[in-house]
Amino acid sequence: MTSGGGIQIPSRLPLLLTHEGVLLPGSTVRFSVDSPRNMHLVSQRLLKGTSLKSTIIGVIPNTRDPERDSDELPTLHKIGTAGIAVQVVGSNWPKPHYTLLITGLCRFSVSSLLKERPFVLAEVKQLDKLEQYTTPAREGVTAEDGELGELSQKFYQAAVQLLGMLDMSVPVVAKFRRLLDSLPRETLPDVVASMIRTSNKEKLQVLDAVSLEERFKKALPMLTRQIEGLKLLQKTRKMSPDHENRVTMRKGGVFPGRQFSLEEEDEDDDGDDTAAIERKVHGANMPEAALRICLKELKRLKKMPQSMPEYALTRNYLDLMVELPWSKSTKDCLDIRAARTLLDNDHYAMDKLKRRVLEYLAVRQLKTSLKGPILCFVGPPGVGKTSVGRSIARTLGREFHRIALGGVCDQSDIRGHRRTYVGSMPGRIINGLKTVGVNNPVFLLDEVDKLGKSLQGDPAAALLEVLDPEQNHSFTDHYLNVAFDLSQVLFIATANTTATIPPALLDRMEVLQVPGYTQEEKVEIAHRHLIPNQLEQHGLTPQQLQIPQESTQDIISRYTREAGVRSLERKIGAICRAVAVKVAEGHKVTKRDASTPEDSAQQGKSQSSLCIYKVSPPEMPIVIDHSALKDILGPPLFEMEVSERLTLPGVALGLAWTPLGGEIMFVEASRMEGEGQLTLTGQLGDVMKESAHLAISWLRANAKTYQLTNMVGGPDPLDGTDIHLHFPAGAVTKDGPSAGVTIVTCLASLFSRRLVRSDVAMTGEITLRGLVLPVGGIKDKVLAAHRAGVKRVILPKRNEKDLEELPANVRAELDFVTAGNLDEVLNAAFDGGFPGTASTHARPQLTSKL
Ligand code: ADP
Repeated sequence: MTSGGGIQIPSRLPLLLTHEGVLLPGSTVRFSVDSPRNMHLVSQRLLKGTSLKSTIIGVIPNTRDPERDSDELPTLHKIGTAGIAVQVVGSNWPKPHYTLLITGLCRFSVSSLLKERPFVLAEVKQLDKLEQYTTPAREGVTAEDGELGELSQKFYQAAVQLLGMLDMSVPVVAKFRRLLDSLPRETLPDVVASMIRTSNKEKLQVLDAVSLEERFKKALPMLTRQIEGLKLLQKTRKMSPDHENRVTMRKGGVFPGRQFSLEEEDEDDDGDDTAAIERKVHGANMPEAALRICLKELKRLKKMPQSMPEYALTRNYLDLMVELPWSKSTKDCLDIRAARTLLDNDHYAMDKLKRRVLEYLAVRQLKTSLKGPILCFVGPPGVGKTSVGRSIARTLGREFHRIALGGVCDQSDIRGHRRTYVGSMPGRIINGLKTVGVNNPVFLLDEVDKLGKSLQGDPAAALLEVLDPEQNHSFTDHYLNVAFDLSQVLFIATANTTATIPPALLDRMEVLQVPGYTQEEKVEIAHRHLIPNQLEQHGLTPQQLQIPQESTQDIISRYTREAGVRSLERKIGAICRAVAVKVAEGHKVTKRDASTPEDSAQQGKSQSSLCIYKVSPPEMPIVIDHSALKDILGPPLFEMEVSERLTLPGVALGLAWTPLGGEIMFVEASRMEGEGQLTLTGQLGDVMKESAHLAISWLRANAKTYQLTNMVGGPDPLDGTDIHLHFPAGAVTKDGPSAGVTIVTCLASLFSRRLVRSDVAMTGEITLRGLVLPVGGIKDKVLAAHRAGVKRVILPKRNEKDLEELPANVRAELDFVTAGNLDEVLNAAFDGGFPGTASTHARPQLTSKL
């Protein structure tokens, strides 16, 4: 035994057979193991053991059988490295395996195998002395040791030379430099061989070199080769010498971090680090209070050793503080005329919104102050709310940042976590400022209507502070713990509905409704904006792809049903992708297309003849017509279903409003023998159920006037009859009073066995006296009716004023009937009026073509 009185490894070692790499003493290598024996070793020995001793295992390079260890134990390599498993990570993906991080301690040779299962256990003999790793350099090999001394001196110098060629500012290099002097010389071959670029075979040679002299001899050429290689590289590439080296260093091996104390070195790094940060702190131009806090933290940082977890925390904090744009801002360049052009160029239609935005900007220009209400764009998805926000930033020449608030239910999302928490971080506002790097960006608070609430405090309250011009000049993020002036930030909010915006928040905002688009507007938007944008995004030109107006109309009406244009944009994107493939194929057809089936017969002829064929690219432009649409987008998703479904008595078409825009909604009724029961299905809210009861009561009360009967012709429609009312799309919850008129019409149709006109849709709240009360969301509802191909819309009389907001073409194409009472509704809903209604007494029908 070579080992004198030094540290001994156990004489019985479990062996890890690996073909992944070679572990040398003094280096740390990661091994992934999945063979049964190795897995057992990990699970039964490493994970079960409690003493330090049990973490020591022998690593044997399994050179002969790289496949996997079969049942038969392969002949083992004679020499291995005893190592300490410093980390074990298990995983089940893609198959069960462990990853071990092992630091090599010393060589050993296998004396005899004790057992082969469940893992290999062997009697071993320690070959290297262990204590020398911790003794100072001078006690190792010295120059007096003759040839060995000379060799080691040579080796040392070569290593110094190698380091000289590397960039000392790279931490790994600096660490290596320090270790070089403090390590015993005799450990150098192992350490260096594991770090420079060497093959496994070469490492194995070093491992097998048990005598020190031989080890130096084996490793020296490798080191010299690395130096030569570097020299060559520097010469030929004329690049900075450290570049390649950095890679080599990291690839070559993992640093033998465990045995050697790194503390001294950390302090050095530390000094540089804190000095740099200090410089930055002074250069960040932060206000007095912030600077004071930073300096205090800096002082603490200097006293902390780098290994302390708190060091990283403080460091991160300081990094953030110096990065924040305390006094960096962009210069506003507001020119109302240019703003108008820009808004017009970016967005088609939405005139009212654009006008209001311009007013807002004009006031800002005159008053140069930001105090005032915060604009909040409310409307269905895809109508351009975000996009207008972005345009505003552009007209002002400001940075733009979007903060998604959907689902935020913790106030620390807005205001940050206190730094005492593990993993604490600043809130989204401060993060946003850091991202944009200036203190006067445009922040788009997206989806303020989807803010949640939870035990962690109310984010809306935190937002209030952010938005309040009286308070936000000293907004204090919990993480920063010092005020940041938000008064220069321009906030814009968006929402799908105002109903769920917390009232206090809503109070601070000026709501601008952004309703959905009409079919015609969508066609225009598609041709002016969406198609050119998508073409550009897909690298296509109008010379390659053309989508005629009729096809756009088709996409809009048969492949999308939405208030905005988002899925329209997606469909156009899908078309562009499909065409891009064709165009790309067209470019490449020269060779490959030539070998299509016809040619396969002559394929044997000659390869070169293939090049003669040139297939012309597909004819340009590719025009997307009906059949191309079907081919690319599949069969139409939506058909005009209105007329289809009104072929039975007891069906009527209502109009509903949802945060996603207006929608048409069918109401179906049927009756059967029974005891006057009313069944309601379709996930209805209470208000809607009450509407149904109101409708039935009113119809019963007026059954005589309108000649309504039960199934057998009796005067009470409910006599001996059960009624079932259903609102299809049963999975969607519905509520609100505005279905009242539709329910009445539907039941009137059922009780009178007359068909409702198939092109009529309606909305309105009813009272027991038969009056029709106004409802909300008229514009969206009418647009939905128009989208669905309805011709006549029945509305409450008091909603007449809302019609003015509608685009002219919609007004021209629809026939509006404004009704003050149910009599008028029924009259307008049925072909030729309804028996018993006032019109039969010669009152002119109340239709208006606005
Ligand atoms: P929102 O924020 O309302 O959900 P976006 O602003 O994301 O909608 O708009 C979706 C897409 O539709 C964007 O690509 C936008 O440019 C486009 N878009 C919407 N409205 C218009 C319009 N009026 N003119 C031009 N493009 C529009």
